[in-house]
Amino acid sequence: MIRSGRGQPGDVAARLARAEQLAATDQIAAGPLRLLATVLRHHQARAGDDLIRSEAGLLAAAVETNRAGGRYPLLDLDAAAGPVMAELDLAVDALLGAVPEPLAGAGRTVAGWSGPERRQLVEAWLDDPSLVDPLLGFWVRAAAGPLLETAAVGAAVPSAEQWRGSACPLCGGQAQASVIAPESGEFMGGSPRSLVCGRCATWWSFPRAVCAVCGEEDPRNLGAYLGEDQRWVRVDACETCHGYVKTFDLREAGGRDIVPLVDDVATLTLDLWAGEQGLARPSASFAGV
Ligand SMILES: [Zn+2]
Ligand SMILES: [Zn+2]
Repeated sequence: MIRSGRGQPGDVAARLARAEQLAATDQIAAGPLRLLATVLRHHQARAGDDLIRSEAGLLAAAVETNRAGGRYPLLDLDAAAGPVMAELDLAVDALLGAVPEPLAGAGRTVAGWSGPERRQLVEAWLDDPSLVDPLLGFWVRAAAGPLLETAAVGAAVPSAEQWRGSACPLCGGQAQASVIAPESGEFMGGSPRSLVCGRCATWWSFPRAVCAVCGEEDPRNLGAYLGEDQRWVRVDACETCHGYVKTFDLREAGGRDIVPLVDDVATLTLDLWAGEQGLARPSASFAGV
């Protein structure tokens, strides 16, 4: 089993602690890490709210019926749009003073929108974040994170046999990062690679030699690029779609304290390098939000 403390659903505290720790020591990514910590503090406060818990229960109520019927994502996203629209105001109120332009401007825009405009934005983002302007997407993600993650807590993640997709089986989000964990040691423990959802923080099994963006399986089109002094992180790139995902190897000596959704932000120089190579992430994000 993957040990706890890696920031999986419900473990916002581990992500916040890691973001604060790295922000205090990291010269290059300190600004984005502080922004991430600010968002996570809001996330943590909302995730503990009774209203969010009851709304999350409604999203999770569909999981077993959907699983039995083979319907993915398993959470009831139709039930998410209304609550996320309401959360937008709370996210803007809490974070507007802490985010830089042009994110703040996008927050003011969203705050001024009427119900139908908000609904269109939120439903598009729930369907596919790449359909949404990244600046606006930052706010939807800050608003939706506490709800989606709370709904994912305790839901059984499908096995590699049940779900082979590159989208999150619970909420449909894209992988923000990829992880290679130590072998579980269990009989038929499965692939040691997992993808990590950028929306609900769920980890799910995914084959090691497959592009997490387009599904390419031909090894001639897949490459892994390791940093010189960071053997615990690499860029897994695909020549077919020119997409990439960062993979964190928790077995490496430097990988002991990694919290993938936070270390993804801390390794932004790799994203700059990847961008120079003409590679792109599945979706743009600001400080992992
Ligand atoms: Zn998810
Ligand atoms: Zn690809």
